Amino acid sequence: MSTENKETKESLNFIEQIIEEHNKTGKYNQKVHTRFPPEPNGYLHIGHAKSICLNFGLSQKYNGLTNLRFDDTNPEKEEVEYVKSIQNDVKWLGFSWEDRMFFASDYFDKIYEYACQLIKNDKAYIDDQTSEQMASTKGNPTKAGIESPYRNRTIAENLDLFERMKNGEFEEGTKALRAKIDMASSNMHMRDPVLYRIKKATHHRTGDKWCIYPMYDFAHCISDSIENITHSVCTLEFEVHRPLYDWILETLGIYRPQQIEFARLNLNYTVMSKRKLLQLVNEKIVESWDDPRMPTISGLRRRGYTPESIRNFATRIGIAKRDNVIDVSLLEFSVREHLNKITTRVMGVLNPLKVIITNYPEAKNEDLVIENNPEDENSGTRTIPFSREIFIEQDDFLEVAPKGYFRLSVGGMVRLKAAYIIECKSVVKNEQGEITALHCEYFENSKSGQDTSGLKVKGVIHFVEANQAIDAEVRLYDRLFTDESPDAHEDKGFKEFINPNSLEIVKNCKLEPSLKNAKVGEKYQFQRLGYFCVDTESTENNLVFNRTVTLKDAWAKEQKK
Ligand code: ATP
Ligand code: MG
Repeated sequence: MSTENKETKESLNFIEQIIEEHNKTGKYNQKVHTRFPPEPNGYLHIGHAKSICLNFGLSQKYNGLTNLRFDDTNPEKEEVEYVKSIQNDVKWLGFSWEDRMFFASDYFDKIYEYACQLIKNDKAYIDDQTSEQMASTKGNPTKAGIESPYRNRTIAENLDLFERMKNGEFEEGTKALRAKIDMASSNMHMRDPVLYRIKKATHHRTGDKWCIYPMYDFAHCISDSIENITHSVCTLEFEVHRPLYDWILETLGIYRPQQIEFARLNLNYTVMSKRKLLQLVNEKIVESWDDPRMPTISGLRRRGYTPESIRNFATRIGIAKRDNVIDVSLLEFSVREHLNKITTRVMGVLNPLKVIITNYPEAKNEDLVIENNPEDENSGTRTIPFSREIFIEQDDFLEVAPKGYFRLSVGGMVRLKAAYIIECKSVVKNEQGEITALHCEYFENSKSGQDTSGLKVKGVIHFVEANQAIDAEVRLYDRLFTDESPDAHEDKGFKEFINPNSLEIVKNCKLEPSLKNAKVGEKYQFQRLGYFCVDTESTENNLVFNRTVTLKDAWAKEQKK
């Protein structure tokens, strides 16, 4: 439910409502300071993009600030490569953390001090039980847990043991620091949660300085507090952690931000957890984190998505308090909508069929004028060549046309986009009986824009002039999964639903010569075929294009059939 802001008449989402309420009461002195807190254990995906747009969007709207904070409390899983890619992706989406890039590991000394403070206040203790013992004495939501036999150690003993843990005197798993809260709490997270564990691992930033590391729940709220975050926005699964978030900061007597939970983005035909995406990369099911079939920000970028289209998508889906699944075609719609506005319409033939226009003079070459983008009146025109030999799409020809077929067939006529009407007179076949070329005739007085032929044809097809055509490789993509919810099957893993036809490589495509110097990342509409983008692997001698998306939603059409 959203209410209206009376001054601006726009509707507010529930987080904005909370912020406006805080601004009214002055709870955070009219300040809005959010953070985006990724764990550097993988590349960011479209779900993270939603969180980025939300956090940075809120601070933009309320004239506030957003920090980028790496939640690097888990030393084993984090890598420098991920830290770099995350920064790159946030910037690419169009957001700036200015000079506020932080690491939770920057606060390890402070977090350690706070742990000591809890011990001194008799609010935390060292437990010698193994994690299995702790789990087995935790109880369940309807049955209270059992207090640890180590729960009532003296403060002095706890302080001594904690320091010795820090000094590396104990083996992993033999001791842990636990909060002393309530083993009978109805909230399992309040049953003496572990705050620190021993981990003899090298950290990507602090090296071997530490052999104890704070748990996420302990580090996160303290990091938020240190950075003076006002609204700590996170996904719904943290709702049950909120009492612990509040307990830690209140017990320490330090500044407390407001944690607010929203529903994470789920997309159909997609898996979204970094762990699963890593599996796809490691097991070579996809090429890399930025494989254009991946739902990662880097994959979408390489596929040809624009930052605007992703931001628009985030706005369009809005934010909710309940989990839901968004149709991936909505994401495709957003990119189609943006590319429609900004891309030049070019001609490219994926599966070429040679056409010889027998009545067109052999030595003649023409430059035909064609509009760059009818959606953009400032985009102007350019010229494309025309001569006796051209390529059309194999799909645009059938030897014998069925009823209602408006493309080319023997004896039939069609208009070549921005050029002439042609009529097919005969086909040329090889020994196997395959069609290798068409013989056609053109109507000289049917030139686009100055047609006096009086001929009426229903079909318009694209073409590329043969002599000046350039070769390219084109990569066509389909969904990576054949199932709507690949990771929601109890009996089968998500990898059982990999679409074996998610990538089709088409070589020897023919493109109009204006694309000769197309640069990596440039985006075009290939007439009738979709939106395409120059791939990162493209070189001057081997042009490679990715199809970002078709012109229309092919899946929706399939379903209607
Ligand atoms: P994953 O489950 O994919 O590994 P994560 O939650 O472990 O994701 P983090 O790096 O911890 O990944 O997430 C950084 C921020 O992005 C967190 O605030 C998290 O809530 C948010 N986030 C992660 N996934 C989504 C999603 N699908 N939709 C919205 N926000 C998300
Ligand atoms: Mg996480």
